[in-house]
Amino acid sequence: MITVSHLTKDYGAVRAVDDLSFTVEPGKVTGFLGPNGAGKSTTLRMVLGLDRPTSGEALVAGRRCAGLAAPLHVVGALLDADAMHPGRTGRGHLRVAATTHGLPRRRVDEVLDRVGLAAAGQRRIKGYSLGMRQRLGIAAALLGDPEVLVFDEPVNGLDVDGVRWIRDLLRGFADEGRTVLVSSHLMSEMQLVADQVVVIGRGRLVADVSVAEMLRGLGGARVRVRTPDPDRLSVALAADADDVTRSGPDELEVTGLAAPAVGDRAHALGIAVHHLSDVEQSLERAYVQLTEGAAEYAGRTTTITATAGAAS
Ligand code: ADP
Repeated sequence: MITVSHLTKDYGAVRAVDDLSFTVEPGKVTGFLGPNGAGKSTTLRMVLGLDRPTSGEALVAGRRCAGLAAPLHVVGALLDADAMHPGRTGRGHLRVAATTHGLPRRRVDEVLDRVGLAAAGQRRIKGYSLGMRQRLGIAAALLGDPEVLVFDEPVNGLDVDGVRWIRDLLRGFADEGRTVLVSSHLMSEMQLVADQVVVIGRGRLVADVSVAEMLRGLGGARVRVRTPDPDRLSVALAADADDVTRSGPDELEVTGLAAPAVGDRAHALGIAVHHLSDVEQSLERAYVQLTEGAAEYAGRTTTITATAGAAS
């Protein structure tokens, strides 16, 4: 479990993190979302004890990380995969960390195997691809078999296979009962892997909700319909739908009416329908609504955090 309480960090005149409070629970993947510059990395560094808060505190399993003698047993972190000595081998890199934590060499081989690097362990890191360096960083995070895992933008720059691999890994850790906090600026990615999302903007909390709840906050059904007579259908639907917008020359997007209702209405009026489908609700759209709401309600973030829908 991670507990962040009234965490604040100033860099000179810049307030990077502003009175931020949230908890991250075990058994779930929690996405830590926000645009670039929102304060995600700064928050994660304070959680890991790598940066001192200006005020407030961050606890991992009830303890501050700064000053822990063997932090790898408490929390594993993937921060910057480029911060590795390029001349070392993958196995050598892990051995250094294992030695300082009193871990056996056997453990190095176990984690190399877990991340699919067993065959590459003897090669120098400078010859590793970005995906291999990410895997090595994750292997290092796993060394002390910690209950809490923190990943900062782990899918950045990875190919499709690498992204899928990380996704399955995160899910696996959560299913093992670990606490998994993963930052990203990619909403679409988080929709696929996260159970819960903590959204921040300009260092402040915007939302702390389950993904399901965030998507529900988008409101009712959304349907796409194509017809050679969009003007007439639009007028016919306008009375009952929450919103009807023209999304193409012969296409409408309808909010607040389900597909059968749209089809039936068109049929009753003798209007031909060439295509009718549900529009998948995306976390991306929910996020845009939420952050637009956050700007509008600036200074009232505590009311917005109650439910995602309140901001829309
Ligand atoms: P994110 O990870 O969400 O992209 P960061 O935590 O990196 O955001 O940055 C938040 C804000 O703090 C930004 O305005 C950034 O410029 C500033 N910042 C981060 N680290 C430092 C630092 N070491 N010195 C000065 N400003 C910093």
